[in-house]
Amino acid sequence: MIDLHTHSNASDGQYSPSELMAIAAENKITAIALTDHDTVAGVNEARAAANRLGLKFFAGIEISAEFPKGTMHILGYNIDINNPELIKACEWSSNQRLERGERIFKFLESKNILLTRESVSKYAAGEALGRPHFARAMIDAGYVGTVSEAFDKYLDTPEFKDAAKRRKLSPEESIKLILNANGIPVLAHPISLKADENTLDDIVKTLISYGLAGMECYHSKHTPEMTDKYIKIAEKNNLFITAGSDFHGEKVKPNTTLGAAESLKFLEALEK
Ligand code: AMP
Ligand code: ZN
Ligand code: FE
Ligand code: FE
Repeated sequence: MIDLHTHSNASDGQYSPSELMAIAAENKITAIALTDHDTVAGVNEARAAANRLGLKFFAGIEISAEFPKGTMHILGYNIDINNPELIKACEWSSNQRLERGERIFKFLESKNILLTRESVSKYAAGEALGRPHFARAMIDAGYVGTVSEAFDKYLDTPEFKDAAKRRKLSPEESIKLILNANGIPVLAHPISLKADENTLDDIVKTLISYGLAGMECYHSKHTPEMTDKYIKIAEKNNLFITAGSDFHGEKVKPNTTLGAAESLKFLEALEK
């Protein structure tokens, strides 16, 4: 099995990059990409661990792009992690996330949820402070029982969005950033765009005009029917078909395991 969408504790995953690669090897994954949110800080450690374990490894990133209606994430594969513009953009995102973090503390305080900075930062080892770090601190402090309860009640509500928006790159900037770092841009989990088939086709065509090269048709949140629909749209638009679990570890995303497809033609492009 292969898996081209995984998260480590360099962003909001549970496991360190080395631990993640060890779990992948135990689960008979043969090729894997690390795609942390808005950071490549885990890539070197993951690559070294994957090499020791005999896993094929691809450097990746998952960039959050501005998209009014749903959530747009752009994956970048085989990126040059030393590219200066990429590094600058990651630093910018990191600062946006820290600044939003302060507003999240305030928002939660207004709901009588009092968290110490330390209870959140102990889960945020890297530069990409995210909502799952808050959700885990809320569980520890007994305010909620699960991560999804934290999101449903507090972190994914319209009120939260008003109070704790963060600035993101535009879709065009995200794609160009990846291309400029010699990477391959791929639209992550199209389900999160909340678009019908025709709208998705329009969105994809616009993204292709910026340089999009692939679409993540296989994803843990897609039903088999959705996957078929996304494959159809990808093929029609000459996009690579990619696959990822979006594994974050059981404590962050229960019920998601590593492994997203048996094999993919896209691997040939990645190995070039
Ligand atoms: P952020 O980077 O702060 O926007 O947080 C994004 C992360 O939160 C992603 O890893 C998502 O998988 C996770 N997430 C978003 N919505 C939910 C939800 N309703 N339940 C659980 N996790 C979620
Ligand atoms: Zn995440
Ligand atoms: Fe995502
Ligand atoms: Fe992800």
